[in-house]
Amino acid sequence: MIIGIDLGTTNSLAACYTEEGAVIIPNRLGERLTPSAVSIDENDQIYVGKSALERMAVHPEEGASLFKRSMGSQRKFTLGKKIFSSEELSSFVLRSLKEDAEYFLGEKVEEAVISVPAYFNDKKRKATKLAGEMAGFKVERIISEPTAAAIAYGMYQKKENTRFLVFDLGGGTFDVSILELEDDIMEVRAVAGDNYLGGEDFTNLILDTFLEEHHIDKNNLSEKERLYLRNQAERCKCYGNTENFFRMQAMWRGEKKETLLLKKEFEKRAAMLFDKIKQPVRRSLSDAGVRLGEIDEIVLVGGTTRMPSVRKFVGKLFGRVPNAGVNPEEAVALGAAIQGAMKERRAAVKEVILTDVCPFTLGTEVSVKTEGNRLENNHFCPILERNTVIPASRTEKFYTVYDHQTQVEIHILQGESRFASNNVSLGTISLTVPDNDAGKEEIVITYTYDVNALLEVEAVITSTGEKITKLIQNQDSDMTLEQMQKRMEELAYLKIHPREQEANKVLLLRGERLYEEATGELREQLELVTRQFEFILDKQNPDRIEEARKDYEEALDWIEEELWMGQ
Ligand code: AMP
Repeated sequence: MIIGIDLGTTNSLAACYTEEGAVIIPNRLGERLTPSAVSIDENDQIYVGKSALERMAVHPEEGASLFKRSMGSQRKFTLGKKIFSSEELSSFVLRSLKEDAEYFLGEKVEEAVISVPAYFNDKKRKATKLAGEMAGFKVERIISEPTAAAIAYGMYQKKENTRFLVFDLGGGTFDVSILELEDDIMEVRAVAGDNYLGGEDFTNLILDTFLEEHHIDKNNLSEKERLYLRNQAERCKCYGNTENFFRMQAMWRGEKKETLLLKKEFEKRAAMLFDKIKQPVRRSLSDAGVRLGEIDEIVLVGGTTRMPSVRKFVGKLFGRVPNAGVNPEEAVALGAAIQGAMKERRAAVKEVILTDVCPFTLGTEVSVKTEGNRLENNHFCPILERNTVIPASRTEKFYTVYDHQTQVEIHILQGESRFASNNVSLGTISLTVPDNDAGKEEIVITYTYDVNALLEVEAVITSTGEKITKLIQNQDSDMTLEQMQKRMEELAYLKIHPREQEANKVLLLRGERLYEEATGELREQLELVTRQFEFILDKQNPDRIEEARKDYEEALDWIEEELWMGQ
């Protein structure tokens, strides 16, 4: 069975293809979204999702979230005494989704289609694939999120030629993609985006307003305080808004504080964020060579598109009502599952060929002769242009630049700048060519981008026929197969908290958090109900536990409400 996974910055979710079509797989708590958060306790037990978030409220130094942003980078996360990469943390989230899917489906799940933002570069895509492999999946395909979303919206079923724009504003990333469906071929025509723009920025805006109003110095917050206030701002953004304003409430050093932010004022403060949204929209249209009027359908994806202010802005920007028929948070996972079914050639799913584009220009560094016949280094020569439909292969010829040059270094670069040093270095290939006059030795370089957007570079010295091929893998964060296996063995003993006990654990962690937030009588009540619940857990009678869990949850709801009201 192949499942589809949306490995998100804020939330992750899995879906599978059934007779009724694609369906979301509920997690161990019966919820559809699993927060992309990981925490580890002193016994090396790993918590993923909601329990990780609850633990982080009390033990912030033992948890991490938003690690997708660092995918493929060298950034390390310290959780308690352990150090992890973004790929490793993501692999825990994927492992947890895998377990949930196996439980839900009652069978082993070994293959997955995992989505990535269209804007993810080669390094980040490979890191995502690696995370999947570390979680024990065969990663069938890495699919771009907008393509998956378009599939979920049934765009692949349309007969006539259709052009659509997918507007995906998630927790931490923004992607715009223009897709075209023509004769059963779904082609991504252009992608553009911003890896540092999303719902988090809107949350921060509310938080900053609150801090300003209450003269709280942002730089003097402990990690715990910062997380707590951020959660309150997040809550306000999602649930605490009426038609005209946002209301953020929080306990601050024993006192209840509140900020009312008028929607109008919020939108004014968010003007810079909305401006940032416009840029990739413009770029994608111009790269695809289409005008806004030529777009048939606008599709909303990502949790942040649920914000009324964002919908209003999108409506204005495009001059029409966008399509939001599928839950914007679920579209990508559903599409990935359908893609999995297409791969398995499941009868009910029409086969469409998906194509993608490479999100960045790929090229190499060259020396250029200036007027005085001087050689100037650091010039960038594009080989595969941004938004070329992949799989794609492009070949260019290069020549030695001075007499007796026997060493040639091919510097593989990615980016849009004219200057090599401004672009991202993906690796190098060193060649030894025969001793000859300048311009006499020819090197044929081929860049090939496969469907998973993995880059292979081939260099052939024409005179000798010598060929060197390189799958771009010499980044510091890229691991060899052996290294990966070794690391997987190292991580294998870290067990994810048992799914059967997860619901109880989440409540106990929530009780712990509320205990820290509460004082006086409420604390005593918390102590009492928690002890009662723990007592029943010890007795290990499943029916009694079920009942007690309900009672305990009700008690916690009530206590939280009381806390909320400022006691
Ligand atoms: P995604 O990455 O698609 O899971 O989107 C996550 C982002 O969507 C987070 O920043 C959430 O705060 C935001 N989000 C989810 N639901 C809502 C909502 N009802 N209103 C506003 N933002 C939301």
